[in-house]
Amino acid sequence: MPDLSLVPPAFGYVVAGVFGAIIGSFLNVVIHRVPLEESIVFPNSRCPSCGAVIAFYDNIPVLSWVLLGAKCRGCKERISFRYPAVELLTALLFVAVAMHDGFSVALPFDLAFVSALVALIFIDAEHMILPNAITYPGIVFAVLARIAIPLLSGSLHFDDLPSLANGAFAGLPIWVTSLAGAAIGALIGGGSLWLMGWTWEKLRGVEAMGLGDVKMMFMVGAYLGWRLTILTIFAGVLTGSIIGIVWMARRRERNMQMLLPFGIFLGLGAIFSLLFGVHLVEWYAGQFR
Ligand SMILES: [Zn+2]
Repeated sequence: MPDLSLVPPAFGYVVAGVFGAIIGSFLNVVIHRVPLEESIVFPNSRCPSCGAVIAFYDNIPVLSWVLLGAKCRGCKERISFRYPAVELLTALLFVAVAMHDGFSVALPFDLAFVSALVALIFIDAEHMILPNAITYPGIVFAVLARIAIPLLSGSLHFDDLPSLANGAFAGLPIWVTSLAGAAIGALIGGGSLWLMGWTWEKLRGVEAMGLGDVKMMFMVGAYLGWRLTILTIFAGVLTGSIIGIVWMARRRERNMQMLLPFGIFLGLGAIFSLLFGVHLVEWYAGQFR
C-alpha cells in the first residue's frame, strides 16, 4: 500500500469530496431503480420523462444540473432537486468521514456504510420502504467489515471493541471479539425496533413498523456496536417524534398513527452516531464516573 501520509490532507479531502459526488450520482440510480426492481448497472441513465439517454457531459454530478437549469436537454422537463442534493450530500459526508477516520483501512468501509444509509434514507422518503436488496447485503457487509478491519489494521476501530477486548472477551482473537460485538449490536438494534413495532401493534391493533426498519437496524447495530446503536435509536426517535408532531400539527391530523418513514431518522441517526457518537457517549458515560 502506498504511503498515504505523504499526501497533504487538504488534497485528500478534495479527492474524497469528488469521489463522494460520483458515488452520489450512482446512489441516484440506486434510489430510482431499486424500488422498481430494475438493474442498477444496465441500461445507461435515461431521462425519466422522455427516455432520452443522458450523455456523459450532462451527467456530471451537481454541475450538469446547474448548467442545464434543472431541465432535461431533450424534453425540457424539470429534473428533481433530489439529484444534485444526493450528490452534494454524499460529497460532504465523504469529506466528513475522511476527516473522522483519516486515510486508514477503515475509511473505505465507513464510506460504503454511509452510502448504503444515504440510499436507504432517500428510498424511504420517497417510497416508505427499506428494500431487502440493500438491507440484506448491508448486514453481510457489516459482518465482513467487523472481521476485516481488525484483521487488516490490528486496531480496535469499532467503538465497542476496546471495552469488550479488555472485559468479557479478553484473550480471544480480536476478530472473534469484533464479531461478538457485531452480534450484540445487531440484537440490540434489530431487537429494539422489533419490540417497538410489536408493542405498538399490541396497543393499537395496527401494524406500525415494517420489518425493513428491523433489518436496517440489524445492519447498523452490527456495524456500529451496541453503544452507538442505542444512540442511533435515541436520535432517531427524538428527531422522528419532533418532526412527526410538527407535521401532524400542520396537517391538523389527530391520528397518532406512525405514518412517518422512520428509516429516514434512523439513517440520519446512524450517520450522526458514526461521525460524532463516540465523543457524545464518552461524555455521557463520564457523568457517572
Ligand atoms: Zn427528457
